[in-house]
This record gives sequence, structure tokens and C-alpha cells, in this order.
Amino acid sequence: GSGPGAWDVEDPGAVRLADVGGMTEVKDRLEAAFLAPLRNPELRRLYGKSLRGGLLLYGPPGCGKTFVARAVAGELGAHFLSVSVNDVLDMWVGNSERNMHEVFETARRRSPCVVFLDELDALGGKRSRTRSGGMRTTVNQLLTELDGVDATANEGVFVLAATNAPWDVDLALRRPGRFDRTLLVLPPDAPAREAILRYHLRDRPIERVDLGRLVKLTDGFSGADLAHVCESAAETALLDSARTGTVRMIGMPDLLGAARQITPSTEPW
Ligand code: ATP
Repeated sequence: GSGPGAWDVEDPGAVRLADVGGMTEVKDRLEAAFLAPLRNPELRRLYGKSLRGGLLLYGPPGCGKTFVARAVAGELGAHFLSVSVNDVLDMWVGNSERNMHEVFETARRRSPCVVFLDELDALGGKRSRTRSGGMRTTVNQLLTELDGVDATANEGVFVLAATNAPWDVDLALRRPGRFDRTLLVLPPDAPAREAILRYHLRDRPIERVDLGRLVKLTDGFSGADLAHVCESAAETALLDSARTGTVRMIGMPDLLGAARQITPSTEPW
């Protein structure tokens, strides 16, 4: 794993929930659990809504779990610290715990900060390379960090976690006040794919294209696949422009060509 200080904190970014295609229910629940209470402290006190307890995002890879967490940070004007639990784990006794502590200390120093813990199931021990006895102390360390040393320690620190395998997540982490609520992030349906394509083409020179056709052709594509289609279509048009010395708009052939190069990465979930 990486040593102390190796955790990369992103500055508050421009991504907003509106930039996330699809995921209507996920966005609604993030609004209810985090954003509305945070924006309205008086109402939060009136209704006795606590900010404790994290949300667990689950679903197949590449469908926007990290992206939506980054958007939550964007909405809050918060820093964003994305960490994979596998990078926290270390084979040496005590190092995983120290790394976990360091992640949260970093977030506290940079508060407001959204901490995104990817691959939370790695703490479940089932598929891990370290001994499960060692894993227990790492789970306990995470619980300690979530509870905070005192009531104000975690002020401005917001924790989201993600997994592709929720059934492997340690049960101690699923108890009330911890990662007790799960949000399913599914591969994008047709309207979501259209929104995702629009988002990734928004600031690029583009001809009028038949997005509907592209949406039909990209059934089974993840958000990451769709981002990649737009990226490589842009690359093709850029290369042409560089060769000819005239700017050529991105067109349907570029997008179709790019889509054909990709094997959809999601299976029926
Ligand atoms: P993993 O489980 O592999 O971490 P993930 O679900 O966290 O996958 P992301 O890293 O969020 O996937 O997605 C990869 C990229 O795909 C994003 O940076 C973004 O550009 C694009 N993307 C994915 N989903 C969406 C979406 N719903 N709207 C817009 N862009 C998306």
C-alpha cells in the first residue's frame, strides 16, 4: 500500500449531480440523506436528522459510483479523497490501521471533504491476501474513524463507500449508523445513455448527430464505455484536423466507429 501522505486530495471540482446521467433514484437519495440536511442546518436540527452513517453504492464497474461521489463533493464545494481499500491494506502488522487513520486525518485536515472508499468488500476478508485476524483490527480502525474521536472531529467529513460485492462487506460495517443504506447503481438505460453521451460531448465541436441511433447501438455499455466512445471519436477528428490543417467537427462516423471498437463491459446485473 501507499504510505502516509500518499492520499491524493482533489480540490473542490465542477462536477455536479446534474452532470451524472441517469441514476435518478440514487441522486434523489443522496439529496435526501446528505445534501438537503447539509444545506438546511435549521431544518436538520428541527427534525433531529443526524449526518452520521454512510451510504454504500453498489453495482457493476464503470457505471458511475466514483463519478456520483465526486459530484456530491462538487455540490458541497468539498474536497474529494478517493481511496481504494485495497491500497489501504498492507501485509505488515499495524500498517493497514495506520493507513486508514491517515486517510481520515487527511480528510479532517482538508475538511470539508468527501471520502470515497472504493472496494469496501476487501475488508470482508473473504478474497483478501491478508489474514482475517489482521482484517478485524482494520475494520475496527475504520469504525473508530467513522465514530470520530469526539463529536466534532468529523465535522465536514462525509463518507461514501462502494463495492461490486455487497454480500462480502463485513457485517460490522453494515450496522445502523455505519454503511447501513445501500444504493444500487445500475448500467445506464437508454435515457441515461443519451444523457451521458450529451455530457461527454457537451464541450466538443460536434456536427448534428443522430444520438437516438447511437443510444440504440450502445445497449449494455457502461458510463465509462460511453465516455470512452466520445473520447476516441474526438481523438479521430483531432488527428484528421492535425493532418489536414482544418478543424473537422466530430461526426456520426467517428462515433459509430468508436462504438464498434468497444465490447460492452456490463453483463445482465
Ligand atoms: P469502478 O467500480 O470501476 O470504480 P465506477 O462505477 O466508480 O466504477 P466511474 O469511475 O465513476 O465508475 O466511471 C468512470 C467514468 O465514466 C467517469 O469518470 C465518467 O467520465 C464516466 N461515467 C460513468 N458513469 C457516468 C454517468 N452516469 N454520467 C456521466 N459520466 C459517467
